Amino acid sequence: MLNRLKGVFKSFQQHNVKIAYQADATMAYIIRTEECTSCATCVQECPMDAIIENGKEKYIIISDLCTDCGSCADVCPEEAIRGS
Ligand code: SF4
Ligand code: SF4
Repeated sequence: MLNRLKGVFKSFQQHNVKIAYQADATMAYIIRTEECTSCATCVQECPMDAIIENGKEKYIIISDLCTDCGSCADVCPEEAIRGS
């Protein structure tokens, strides 16, 4: 898991974060950062610890860890998490 996280952070360093996750066509759920209020409710709900802060007090979903359970989308008060 550590190596996968290192790969994700390397991707963040090489690309704008927003571009990096939007370009991942296999991801079923994404966080729309413009609608996210950084409440962290989704972070607490995710059984896979797949949601992390991206350094700008916004959150992103790590697609390699996400099992597409949809729990985060169910609890987001802003409806900022959408299936793709
Ligand atoms: S629950 Fe929604 S508003 Fe709160 S941090 Fe997650 S995506 Fe952002
Ligand atoms: S869909 Fe499920 S596994 Fe994926 S980020 Fe949301 S709560 Fe976590």
